[in-house]
Amino acid sequence: MAGGINAATMPCLKCAGEARRTSEGQENDFYECGECGFGFGIDWSEGGPPPTPRWPISEEEAEERREAACRVFRTLGQSDVK
Ligand SMILES: [Zn+2]
Repeated sequence: MAGGINAATMPCLKCAGEARRTSEGQENDFYECGECGFGFGIDWSEGGPPPTPRWPISEEEAEERREAACRVFRTLGQSDVK
């Protein structure tokens, strides 16, 4: 169980919407956004499972996340986010 119960729902990496876990691995969990449909994986092996629930997030955090996503997607292209 990778990210554990606190990682069952994550803010989407792309739009900061609600992304639910679709599968759980040893180190990686996979999510699919309910708002934009974006799918992504998160590797929890380095930092370990989050100590507090990762959802919901504040509007400020959502804003920061969307800004970060803009930079990331501009650099990597939309198909290459890990
Ligand atoms: Zn999304």
